[in-house]
Amino acid sequence: ERIEQTQVLIVGAGPAGSVAAALLRQQGRQVLMLEKQHFPRFSIGESLLPQSMEYLEKAGMLRAVVEAGFQYKNGAAFARDGAYTTFDFRQKSSPGWGTTYQVQRAVFDDVLAREAARAGAELRFGHEVLSVDVAGERPCVQVRDEAGETYQVQADFLLDASGFARILPRLLDLERPSRFPVRGAIFTHVHDGIVPGAAGFDRNKILITVHPRHKDVWYWTIPFSNGTCSLGVVAERSYLEQYTGTESERLKAIVAEDPGLSKLLANARWEMPARQIVGYSANVDSLWGRNYALLGNAGEFLDPVFSSGVTIAFKSASLAADCLARQFAGEEVDWEAGFGRPLRAGVDAFRAFVESWYAGGFQKIIFHPAQNPSVREMICSILAGYAWDLSNPYVAEHKRRLAVLEELCSA
Ligand code: FAD
Repeated sequence: ERIEQTQVLIVGAGPAGSVAAALLRQQGRQVLMLEKQHFPRFSIGESLLPQSMEYLEKAGMLRAVVEAGFQYKNGAAFARDGAYTTFDFRQKSSPGWGTTYQVQRAVFDDVLAREAARAGAELRFGHEVLSVDVAGERPCVQVRDEAGETYQVQADFLLDASGFARILPRLLDLERPSRFPVRGAIFTHVHDGIVPGAAGFDRNKILITVHPRHKDVWYWTIPFSNGTCSLGVVAERSYLEQYTGTESERLKAIVAEDPGLSKLLANARWEMPARQIVGYSANVDSLWGRNYALLGNAGEFLDPVFSSGVTIAFKSASLAADCLARQFAGEEVDWEAGFGRPLRAGVDAFRAFVESWYAGGFQKIIFHPAQNPSVREMICSILAGYAWDLSNPYVAEHKRRLAVLEELCSA
């Protein structure tokens, strides 16, 4: 079996892998990306946060993303039992981008992967990583191409960006169960037929609808620029299991339970068969080890409710690239201080908001009739993805601040 050599090997060409590849190419590194699928391919995770624009810009990919013609996004809207509230991300307390896009991931991921290749990364589609050995001085993986040929690649450094496949955590037994109950999602794309100006709807915002009877069940409606919407529902597994039939029939039945959403989608054409994913939340013991690091979903995945996944994937790529710049310059790098801890700081802030969402506290905050404008700007910052901005007290002291605010809004 032949053995190839590279400086940095990246497993997976999703958002985390492509942004890491482009950033490393800026440092002049030799980068090999192995992607088991062929693009364009469907993927879930379509609503970006403004914070993610900073990393697209840093990676030199922003222009390609802008020119792809995705749906402009300036905020998030929440609906519950006839109540409707919106956040305009431009009214956030943190500095930085206030707008972004809602993207069909088949196109978006393809654009990013091509940009990474254009920056000089070698990208092989249809090459699947089968096994990983990180015990030696240099990490080594075994790969199979589509002709069934296998070969090995040795690298100075390995970045696992394999998403929910979580190649390294599985092979190295790094997985730790998530503290969240097992939830799942059923989703599809529909030709939405929503008339412009419809009450309680804004194409420039993701719409999160809380189920009228179950505060921990919610729907997403993510409009795209071509008259379609991504539509999905998230609930505990046991809740979803009550519904039988095809995934499309099950999703339709759950959508029918919310009068507002049913009315909004009355003219929708359901053409794509719906799909289900269950048990996506995951965690690991450590986000790095000797000469490897876990990016994006290969590390930790919280929950879809605040659309934080791609932003966290980009942040992990950016932190890893910064550590690698120092490591390749000969410095002894403390990966916990430079990568694990700073990445987790933002993830932990998001986690506090996710927990509060499902317990109902965060819903009390956003639907409260009397809101303090400056507090709203700080909450807006989190919703826009600025979960690493320590000047925001709702980041720096997320648990305490959220608890106090929930208390105030419960009175
Ligand atoms: P991925 O995008 O999953 O990419 C991993 C790549 O690795 C894939 O292309 C795969 O083919 C490849 N790969 C896997 N195994 C191998 C192998 N052995 N060899 C070679 N290649 C391999 N995030 C948001 O930002 N906004 C949202 O609105 C949002 N909604 C979501 C809704 C749901 C229901 C779920 C479950 C997630 C959602 N997310 C959302 C999260 C988002 O999907 C992920 O965080 C994001 O895709 C992570 O990107 P990634 O690059 O880490 O992994």
